[in-house]
Amino acid sequence: MTDCLFCKIVAKEIPAEIVLETDRALAFRDINPQAPTHVLVVPKEHHADAAALAAADDGLADDVLKAAHAVAVQEGTAEPGYRVVFNTGPAAGQTVFHVHAHVLGGRALEWPPG
Ligand code: AMP
Ligand code: ZN
Repeated sequence: MTDCLFCKIVAKEIPAEIVLETDRALAFRDINPQAPTHVLVVPKEHHADAAALAAADDGLADDVLKAAHAVAVQEGTAEPGYRVVFNTGPAAGQTVFHVHAHVLGGRALEWPPG
């Protein structure tokens, strides 16, 4: 996608603080962090949202989830716990339509979310 912010980060055309890179996923710090650890994990291939990622049907969703867990381990928040969130669609607060997992940790997280 030519006009996608996260495709541009994947292509390294826009700078980001990258914390993990695998063959098919990239993880970088959220520009507006909501917790001490707030990292976004994206597939390098463009898919608009979690529904499209789930339909990719080639293990890509697995790769993104595994990368999300690897980020939590790397950030030292796998214990006592972390949250993985895919905002999916405008009513859920999705603003960037290149699917991304928010990995949040480093503080106690309230439930239910707002
Ligand atoms: P969402 O609202 O779930 O679509 O999440 C989009 C996230 O992208 C927000 O948490 C933003 O703070 C974050 N964001 C927007 N632009 C950038 C950027 N250039 N680098 C890193 N994170 C970004
Ligand atoms: Zn994209």
